[in-house]
Amino acid sequence: MAAIVSEKLLEWYDANARDLPWRARPGEAAPDPYRVWLSEIMLQQTTVAAVKPYFEAFTRRWPNVEALATAPEEDVMAAWAGLGYYSRARNLVKAARAVAERGGFPDTEEGLRQLPGLGQYTAAAVAAIAFGRRAVVVDANVERVVARLFALTEPLPVVRKAIRVCTESITPAQRSGDFAQAMMDLGSAVCTARSPKCLLCPLATDCRGRAEHDPEALPVKAAKKPKPTRTGEAYWIEREGMVWLARREGKGMLGGMRALPDDGWSARTDGAGVPLLEGEWEGAGLVRHSFTHFTLELSVRRYLGAATPRQEGEWWPIERLDEAGLPTLFAKAARLALA
Ligand code: SF4
Repeated sequence: MAAIVSEKLLEWYDANARDLPWRARPGEAAPDPYRVWLSEIMLQQTTVAAVKPYFEAFTRRWPNVEALATAPEEDVMAAWAGLGYYSRARNLVKAARAVAERGGFPDTEEGLRQLPGLGQYTAAAVAAIAFGRRAVVVDANVERVVARLFALTEPLPVVRKAIRVCTESITPAQRSGDFAQAMMDLGSAVCTARSPKCLLCPLATDCRGRAEHDPEALPVKAAKKPKPTRTGEAYWIEREGMVWLARREGKGMLGGMRALPDDGWSARTDGAGVPLLEGEWEGAGLVRHSFTHFTLELSVRRYLGAATPRQEGEWWPIERLDEAGLPTLFAKAARLALA
């Protein structure tokens, strides 16, 4: 079955591959490892549609890994704003510097694993796509296709081990990068989470999930834990067309980013609800924002006094606020304060 599956899938990919700015067309020379790596880091937890404009802006500004290696971290963080999971941007800079120092990307999965921010999946994807190495590439799309194809009915995350073994068994020695991308494209366009389009699927006659089960029910999800809700406050402090922006501490949530000052909320605790300046404040509304492990209800308060905060930060022109690189949460809070 293994050879048949990979042959059918590659044939389907040759005719149906998505045209993406970081990809080579099927059969073309392997794409630039820098572009493959950058796209894979951006695509973690984020959709292709959201990534495209960021990828284009990044590669215009930093066309190669050496250019990115010399960029100040705060510029990269600001350019990343809105993509979320900001530790990825910090690791991106670290990895670019490590690659520039060693004179190029490692061309094996093991070598790539040594770079900051490259886990099992990303290292395998870059090794396969950019360097033609045979590697077992399992993202959420591949996970879904394989669980269905082999009718793996154990729940996540236990089933992941079997998914890896099965993916390994169908990964070809040649064109393993195209094979990985073909699996991703099949999962995104045909073997979709809801209502898979089995009638259009090149693997329909090999698929045990389709023959023996309701494929939509696979992979079986673990019961979701309810997300806690945290509360916090963000402060809008304005003076002569400028707003006070704090610089968040390097480690921790949204670390290193410019942000509105806040009351110290975190994933584990509510904020203290104590404004950083004494004086009069008015409420500007509430932002609800969902992080991976909790939901935040952030009250936005506007300062009516004239004092300057004593913390690391800067006065920023309000008319250029969109250039400050605020994370989405604080961009929402700022819009509310300005409404
Ligand atoms: S036949 Fe259906 S369930 Fe099976 S891999 Fe194809 S789209 Fe997915």
